[in-house]
Amino acid sequence: MQDELRRLPKVQTLLESDAAAHLISLHGREDVANAVRAKLNIARSKIMAAGGASTSPISEPAFFDDIADDLSARNANTLKRAINATGVIIHTNLGRARLAPEAIEAMRNVAANYSSLELTLQDGKRGSRHAHVEALICQLTGAEAAMVVNNCAAAILSCLSALASGKHVIASRGELVEIGGAFRMPDVITQSGAVLREVGTTNKTHLSDYEQAISDDAAILLKSHTSNFSIVGFTSTPNRQELSKLARETGTILVEDLGSGVLINLADYGLGDEPVVRDVIAEGVDLVTFSGDKLLGGPQAGIIAGKRALVDTVRRHPIARAVRIDKLSLAALRATLELYRAPHDPMARIPVLQMLSEPIEAIKTRAEVLAQSIRKETRLIAEVVETTARAGAGSLPQQDLPSASVAISNEHASAEHLAAQFRGADLPVIGRISKDTFLLDMRAVANEEVDLIARVAQSLWPHDA
Ligand SMILES: *Cc1c(COP(=O)(O)O)cnc(C)c1O
Repeated sequence: MQDELRRLPKVQTLLESDAAAHLISLHGREDVANAVRAKLNIARSKIMAAGGASTSPISEPAFFDDIADDLSARNANTLKRAINATGVIIHTNLGRARLAPEAIEAMRNVAANYSSLELTLQDGKRGSRHAHVEALICQLTGAEAAMVVNNCAAAILSCLSALASGKHVIASRGELVEIGGAFRMPDVITQSGAVLREVGTTNKTHLSDYEQAISDDAAILLKSHTSNFSIVGFTSTPNRQELSKLARETGTILVEDLGSGVLINLADYGLGDEPVVRDVIAEGVDLVTFSGDKLLGGPQAGIIAGKRALVDTVRRHPIARAVRIDKLSLAALRATLELYRAPHDPMARIPVLQMLSEPIEAIKTRAEVLAQSIRKETRLIAEVVETTARAGAGSLPQQDLPSASVAISNEHASAEHLAAQFRGADLPVIGRISKDTFLLDMRAVANEEVDLIARVAQSLWPHDA
């Protein structure tokens, strides 16, 4: 065994070869040396496992080819553009909202240059980054004051930390939601230093349940939008006006986590019953929190809007500094919010809202164009089928959106295999599998992307391969 082990080349010798020099120029000496050591360790273990019996000697070209592959795979960019053919418009795993061109331009501008991020241009004094969006948010929601943080989870954490640490947060058992990604309302309450007092039952919570739970230690009555599930049947919860009155009478604060939160009434477009931020505030909620990159259609952000004194307290808390929004998101958020104001029509200008409201005929046409090119240019079978799309990310959970998909198949490939192939393409195309069929849903696909998908299909299943 010792002989076999001794026959292995030395790390130093390998690193002096021409093949190594080339790899070192691409990846740096340290990475190549580590890769060489790791590979030699594997060779050593093989010899030991074989009990010293002769193993095939190391061939230098093959040895370095393997290392080259490993290093390229390890250093390859994994955050890539992808095409969302899942039929879920706000897909958290695919980056949620596509931004409007105005928002992208605003990001580009503050990224490439210095900006007045925390500077008041009138007097040259230090300003607040919140100021760039506060007035707009107030106009659009009727709130007295507003601020923005990194995301909605951070917004809730900031509100609870600043306003209820060491005190009680009273919440209905039916609203203690898990949003996903380990975001559970009871855990966030604990993290903030507040104590959760659960009231009511899963399906019914009465005003008297809240009343009885309020002691001198009570700070916040917390309502949460049950965004990714619904309790149907024998249910009831007090409405916002009732809770607001109770909060005023008891000196507590009514906070509502809206999650998605919309700025315009989507019900006017036949889209569900997502609470409109302006209505929620008008109904007496003291502070609301909602996301920037769900139905609002902007960048990742968490918006806190409501009473001036409360927003000021949250803004001054150290946690607000720790979860502050970055300038790129802030620029994109401001530009997105602008599109909600006249003369713009947000339904026509904000991609998330466009995709939600696009007429089925247009989606079908896109599916037909794609199916036709796939049939023409590949060995795949492609047919247009009617499907159901969703808003996603806990938005409009009850809302089925009629959609059209291209169902793709080939007798030599399973749906899983096709899904993996499309996902693994240079431009990943993410579809979904339904009833053993691989589907490319066209609701969240842009017209410009149809040709890109066809080219991916052609690279995978060309005609005369
Ligand atoms: C999505 C959601 C959140 C979390 O929002 P992020 O912006 O992703 O942090 C919180 N609450 C509710 C009800 C949600 O739907």
